[in-house]
Amino acid sequence: MALQEQNYWLTTTEFPATDLSRPLPEVVDVAVIGAGFTGLSAARTLAKRGARVAVLESETIGWGASSRNGGMVLTGMKLGVNKLISMYGRELTQRMYAASLASMDCVEQIVIEEAIDCNFSRCGHLEVACKQKHFDDYARQAEVIAREFNHTLRVVQKIELSAEIGSNIYFGGMVDEVSAGCNPARYVAGLGGAALKAGAGIFENARVQKIERESREGAAGWKLTTSRGAIWAHDVFVGTSGYTGRATPALQKKLIPIGSFIITTEVLPEKLAHELSPRNRMIYDSKNYLYYYRLTPDRRMLFGGRAAFFPETSQTVRQSAEILRRGMIDVYPQLSDAKIDYVWGGTLDFAFDIMPHAGQMDGMYYAVGYAGHGVAMATYQGQKIAEMMAGDKPENPFVGIKFPGAPLGLYDGKPWFLPFAGAWYKFLDWVS
Ligand SMILES: Cc1cc2nc3c(=O)[nH]c(=O)nc-3n(C[C@H](O)[C@H](O)[C@H](O)COP(=O)(O)OP(=O)(O)OC[C@H]3O[C@@H](n4cnc5c(N)ncnc54)[C@H](O)[C@@H]3O)c2cc1C
Repeated sequence: MALQEQNYWLTTTEFPATDLSRPLPEVVDVAVIGAGFTGLSAARTLAKRGARVAVLESETIGWGASSRNGGMVLTGMKLGVNKLISMYGRELTQRMYAASLASMDCVEQIVIEEAIDCNFSRCGHLEVACKQKHFDDYARQAEVIAREFNHTLRVVQKIELSAEIGSNIYFGGMVDEVSAGCNPARYVAGLGGAALKAGAGIFENARVQKIERESREGAAGWKLTTSRGAIWAHDVFVGTSGYTGRATPALQKKLIPIGSFIITTEVLPEKLAHELSPRNRMIYDSKNYLYYYRLTPDRRMLFGGRAAFFPETSQTVRQSAEILRRGMIDVYPQLSDAKIDYVWGGTLDFAFDIMPHAGQMDGMYYAVGYAGHGVAMATYQGQKIAEMMAGDKPENPFVGIKFPGAPLGLYDGKPWFLPFAGAWYKFLDWVS
């Protein structure tokens, strides 16, 4: 098969159908912007609590990062635990780590409750060390995580690494058995089906263009102008992550959209697939400019990374195929003859402090900033912020933490500095 510039996961997935001719309701309790994990998880929770909910999606269900990702359902956050403790202190970091573990259970529970057929499996993740000093740090990290968060990670010496991965370029690894893998497109499609079943309306091809405060019959609320007409909502929940745009300018300025790209090989022989990843882990390396990879349920090697720093265009996607193929062969020379069947890209959302953020901004609710750890955390934040909107006081350590903008405010949502950031991360990988 010739290389296809297409998201492989979509070839395995059927999405729920929505009626494109159905007019938007005039009034709802909550307008949710974005039909990814965040928005759909929020919509499901709110609709189950009896709220009238309209999910407004400029493209189609799961069109954003939620169908394009590696399907790694990971514990922890992008930043390491020592950094987190230095930023937030022990008590708040403990609550954040506990939330990251709870987010795993949240996904698993939804998958079971809604019977979502998405190959969810607690196969664990493996981080591999690209340098000896990265490996030396694993023992320190595992010790802090065991002591502070009562969570066990297993450090794997280089000599034992072949039981985990069929590559000998690494200096050792660290395994977390709690992490999981799934087919993300099937998961987001299932979440969409669950939100519909709970009574939420999902409106595809409905780009939100403008949001204005407007009272109605004495009640404060919002008028949203969309490409499918206007709608009035008591509350707005923004779940647009890396695709956040001009409709929410204050949020857009706080986020850096970063491209990430993925290739998948042809289906591999069973013996070779087992040699590459004997325990079927979700794998990523210890660099800033990192690679992440795994086997798909039908035994393709899925290999991703920030091959280009800019968000996906047909040019960055095409260039990424070859860059990632070379990266994959560096890790797995066994794959030098394997054909690449698919390549695609998507956009991640990074806050300037590389942390998830949620709560209220300009009177609207939001949850963003998952920095490549969004499968579990986006689902969880959607649920927790929805509970907050419904009047509960759920535990959520990411609400109310400082949400920094660009240094000196020098950013209007167009990431002109990305080539410099990319070069900087490459430099850091070289020296650290
Ligand atoms: C290539 C890639 C690999 C990744 N790998 C992993 C991984 O393995 N594990 C992991 O945990 N995370 C991973 N991530 C991150 C994860 O996919 C995201 O954090 C997560 O999907 C975010 O979900 P979301 O619902 O917040 O946003 P999205 O899924 O991006 O959805 C946002 C939606 O908002 C819509 N939208 C935007 N503006 C408007 C508007 N004005 N009106 C209406 N709709 C609008 C968009 O069309 C989009 O569908 C990866 C991301 C990428 C791109």
